[in-house]
Amino acid sequence: MTLDVKKLLADNAGRNFELHQAHVNPRFVKTLRTIGFDKIYTRAEGQYLWDTDGRRYLDMLAGYGVFNFGRNNPDIRQALCDFMEQNYPNLVQMEAPLLSGLLADELKKRMPNDLDIVYFTNSGTEGVETAIKFARCATKRPGIIHASKAFHGLTNGSLSLNGDENFRDGFGPLLPHCHKVPFGDLEALEEVLSRGDIAAFVIEPVQGKGINIPPPGYLMEARALCRKHGALFVADEVQSGMGRTGKFLALEHEGDVDPDMVILSKSLSGGYVPAGAVLTRKWIYDRVFSSMDRSVVHSSTFGQGSLAMVAGLATLEYMDRNDCMANATVMGDRIGEGLLTIRDQYQFVKDIRWRGLMVAIEFGVPKSMKLRAAWSLAHKLDKSLFPQGITIPLLQDHGILTQVAGHNIDVIKLIPPLIITESDCNYFINGFIEVMKKLHKFPGPSWEVISRIGRSALSGGAGNPAGQGQKSERIAS
Ligand code: PMP
Repeated sequence: MTLDVKKLLADNAGRNFELHQAHVNPRFVKTLRTIGFDKIYTRAEGQYLWDTDGRRYLDMLAGYGVFNFGRNNPDIRQALCDFMEQNYPNLVQMEAPLLSGLLADELKKRMPNDLDIVYFTNSGTEGVETAIKFARCATKRPGIIHASKAFHGLTNGSLSLNGDENFRDGFGPLLPHCHKVPFGDLEALEEVLSRGDIAAFVIEPVQGKGINIPPPGYLMEARALCRKHGALFVADEVQSGMGRTGKFLALEHEGDVDPDMVILSKSLSGGYVPAGAVLTRKWIYDRVFSSMDRSVVHSSTFGQGSLAMVAGLATLEYMDRNDCMANATVMGDRIGEGLLTIRDQYQFVKDIRWRGLMVAIEFGVPKSMKLRAAWSLAHKLDKSLFPQGITIPLLQDHGILTQVAGHNIDVIKLIPPLIITESDCNYFINGFIEVMKKLHKFPGPSWEVISRIGRSALSGGAGNPAGQGQKSERIAS
């Protein structure tokens, strides 16, 4: 008797939090309960999720950017189902698999410059680890530079490039020879590059934490500085790539940047199978895989898995056929411009910035004395609390899933599927306006929510979203 999946789901319906409390991550269960994100979702299609009561949610988080092409995309699923019918060999290891060759060819075609070789991974962080290893091996230098506020993953090497102490705390010592420079600061970059021992500068062309867009010319100039000082320029496009910003790579907004390595993951396989890729130059590859003896010196068991490769091919085909990149540009502008038109009506809203469908709403100190007092109170309770006063009512009252964009910054972030429609954009903007109206009334129910969560975080007890006064946005990825 094979596993009856329908029965399994039906028999265990609603046990999610009980099971996670007992077996997986009880602290996260507390976090979700505290902030009212303890929904049980039972259906997902495209840009929508449905909970057990049949309530629909607009997903502006897309699984941290995994579902650029929608959840349970039927075309990608069909390709996977068709492939599984073939009894095609997978992970033979001592072979040259057809499908990874095909996907590598397709990815290279989409690069803005000549990147010759594709190394496949199972995740974004594994791509970053790969880039660190390749850069060190190819340049015979130890140093890696990263930007402040960077997020490149949470394994040991990529964590060493994380610009946020909250993530690093408790896991040291991390990799030596890693240097942080302020995002956007060319002078600081050159100062470190001029040490002469730097293998690579690893940079997100649009930073995921806080959605920071580089100053015009920064990436081009940084690239030139790397070349001048013999370091590699590595673009981490794990979140910003795959069409999210309206171009295949976010780097392409900055002109002809000519990266030495590009890292992709997240939406590469349509959200069905973990996959990632590092595209690199032939000379770098040649130095790493320098002899027959070293022909698999960097590899992993599940890299190039057939399902991931088929999903990747089907994803690229879907993206092209449906012109998803063009839609990302149009919908990003719709949301960004829509929010700009209301910005001045709500004192807490400080800045709206976006590139395609990477959108940030930043909040700042309001003008009125009363609201200013409320702002300081919230920040006194916890530096990262305020934006939760927006994400929570967006979810509870309007069924819109969003996330706080990082630690100690008052930003919420939108990275919805690229297939969202104008009516989704309008729905979001209207919901946001409603939340803003309530938040601009102090005292009022919105502030009660903020203070309740703040108090439970401070208490460090059962309600503390992530323990030790550090809150739920630690989960933001
Ligand atoms: N790089 C960037 C820019 C990311 O946004 C992320 C994930 N949020 C990663 C790397 C790590 O990817 P993963 O979670 O698949 O390891």
